[in-house]
Amino acid sequence: MAAVIINIKNAVVSYREDVALRGVSLEIRVGEMIGVIGPNGAGKTTLLTLINGLGHLLQGEVWVLGHDVSRGCLAALRSRIGYVPQLPAIDPRMPVTVREVVMMGRYGRLGFFRRPGPKDWQRVDDLLQRVGMEHLAGRPIGHLSGGEQQRVAIARALAQEPEILLLDEPTASLDRKGEQQILTLIQRIHKERQLTTLMVTHSLAGLDALCDRLVLMKGGRIWQTGTPAALLTEKVLELLF
Ligand code: ATP
Repeated sequence: MAAVIINIKNAVVSYREDVALRGVSLEIRVGEMIGVIGPNGAGKTTLLTLINGLGHLLQGEVWVLGHDVSRGCLAALRSRIGYVPQLPAIDPRMPVTVREVVMMGRYGRLGFFRRPGPKDWQRVDDLLQRVGMEHLAGRPIGHLSGGEQQRVAIARALAQEPEILLLDEPTASLDRKGEQQILTLIQRIHKERQLTTLMVTHSLAGLDALCDRLVLMKGGRIWQTGTPAALLTEKVLELLF
């Protein structure tokens, strides 16, 4: 059986008076593709930020890639975790090209004082091709559609060559075709790069084919985990949402 790469033990996370996670425990093994689903406010994004070392852990423990994320230097750990956040609103006047946005993903690997070299730019161009965005490489990031921005955000996360990929609603704002394309892309990249992937999503279509396991969250707790076949039933989903 593959090694445990993420181990969350009884995690409690709170934002001032709001308790976002109430004693969450979860073990994830190397190479797993996990879908995280649940209603609004269930704690799904908070779970991702906890793994990324950005959550405010009040109680419990979080171990990622052998590091205790509640202590120690997290910069090195974060460079091994690719994070695609929920799509932010981008000012169309932002003077940064698509290619430069993807290069930002490499800064964690490069360190603050090293400038990107030809090999880094080559890597960025390869990734843009991989996500089908090479034709828009020179365009300002704010001039892209939601779906195009999602693809660029995935390329940026991959530019850091992560071992763990965290995706927060990567298909939000996409039409059906765009959603299917992004899911297929995520599945391919997950396999090719032998990643461990967690994806928060509100869209249940295609999850059975994509995910090894689902984590169902409700009210700041993990309500159930299991295979998509076991959990994607009308009865379970009615109780969840
Ligand atoms: P959604 O599906 O709407 O994105 P979610 O399941 O991802 O929701 P979280 O974003 O993790 O839920 O939020 C969990 C709880 O924590 C919610 O009650 C939310 O209001 C609260 N919360 C999240 N971020 C903050 C914050 N920065 N400050 C205060 N409360 C927060």
